[in-house]
Amino acid sequence: GMSKERMMEIRRQNCNPMIMKVTYYKNPVFINQGHMQWLWDVDGRRYLDLFAGVATVSVGHCHPKVTAAAEKQLRKLWHTTNIYVYSPLHEYVDKLAATLPDPLKVIYLTNSGSEANDLAVLLARLHTGNFDIINLRGSYHGGSPQTMGLTSNSTYKYPIATGFGCHNTMCPDVFAGPWGGSHCRDSLIQTIRNCSCPKGSCMANDRYIGQLKEVFATSVPSRIAAFFGEPIMGVGGAVQYPKNFLKDTYKLVRERGGVCIADEVQTGFGRTGSHFWGFQGHDVMPDIVTMAKGIANGFPMGAVVTTHEIAASFGKGVYFNTFGGNPVACAIASSVLDTMKEDGTQQISHDVGAYLLTGLSKIRDKYEIVGDVRGKGLQIGVEMVKDKTSREPLPPAAISEIFEDTKDMGVLIGKGGVYGQTFRIKPPMCITKDDADFFLAVFNQALQNYVK
Ligand code: PMP
Repeated sequence: GMSKERMMEIRRQNCNPMIMKVTYYKNPVFINQGHMQWLWDVDGRRYLDLFAGVATVSVGHCHPKVTAAAEKQLRKLWHTTNIYVYSPLHEYVDKLAATLPDPLKVIYLTNSGSEANDLAVLLARLHTGNFDIINLRGSYHGGSPQTMGLTSNSTYKYPIATGFGCHNTMCPDVFAGPWGGSHCRDSLIQTIRNCSCPKGSCMANDRYIGQLKEVFATSVPSRIAAFFGEPIMGVGGAVQYPKNFLKDTYKLVRERGGVCIADEVQTGFGRTGSHFWGFQGHDVMPDIVTMAKGIANGFPMGAVVTTHEIAASFGKGVYFNTFGGNPVACAIASSVLDTMKEDGTQQISHDVGAYLLTGLSKIRDKYEIVGDVRGKGLQIGVEMVKDKTSREPLPPAAISEIFEDTKDMGVLIGKGGVYGQTFRIKPPMCITKDDADFFLAVFNQALQNYVK
């Protein structure tokens, strides 16, 4: 392969500048190959991959079974478009529909999460005849001009029109709900953790729902197209909602004529452990579900699933997507669904996720700078703070130091949260408890190195 120096030179000279911005490490990792939960760099060093290319490698890097399915399809047919009828698309759509409850049975295939969310916005607007969208503060829904408007984190936003209504000077393009992420002291998470209400009657929920009603009363009279929400926030830092929060929100949004969209780009395909779809953990039924990332284990693909009724509202024009439903993508995604069943990835997500949360909670109790450990299944966040009383985010330089050290000891993790203060753990769903032990030891050591 090409030398490291030459790659970095090309990266600086010919790649878009964003690529350097998202190069996480001070000393970048030069990846050469992967197998299951492992990655090897160009010098042959092995890393435990607990980030999975941002929760995307779902069943394992180069999983032999999925790789064989891809190879088989590559020799047979690469592409034709939806103009023609071909088996891989129909086999896949049939299998994917079977994982979703009625009435979520109509599937559009796309090539990314942003594209899926763009399409979901369009579907919601055409179906309701309304325009405005409600989202959650701290959320990430994509990087296309329109989904950038949905994304509620200034890091990923540019001051341009993104196709959303503006009735509120606080909020240039979309109505971000006023309930905070875990970064602020008076936050959703903080409230839950300090909550002393009896189980099932959480005041935090009343409070956030009250704030949502305020948004309706002050900004959005009666013209909601959709509510967008992840079942557990991903990029936002594994933020979880109070019990019944999504249920109550869905009800309020529907009363105002809106549809409810579950962004399952990160939480889908068993990642939350307890259910195959994250929304099932909230006892809600979305009108539209969007998905990508884990759908094809790293092969570019996304999907929107909705009802026949909503799909019918989209009937006037022709929505055409050249690559959507590509035979190779479909063959891979089909094999991914089979493999998830055979390998028991959801169960692994449940068991190893719980094991990691227990281990991380012990680490949280040991260090003043570990403010919160949260998540579900293999969608985990470790929020780093200056101290547990102020809950101020640990500054970026400190985060980088711990992050780099963890990598140098052989484990790759992610970063997220509004201030980049939350470490994110979302590995391929083939990791073992031994891998978890290895990570816990490494992370503990990195924290020890930092605080001493
Ligand atoms: N929704 C969520 C919840 C995501 O995490 C992401 C990507 N991080 C997207 C949408 C956008 O997906 P993509 O990068 O494939 O466009």
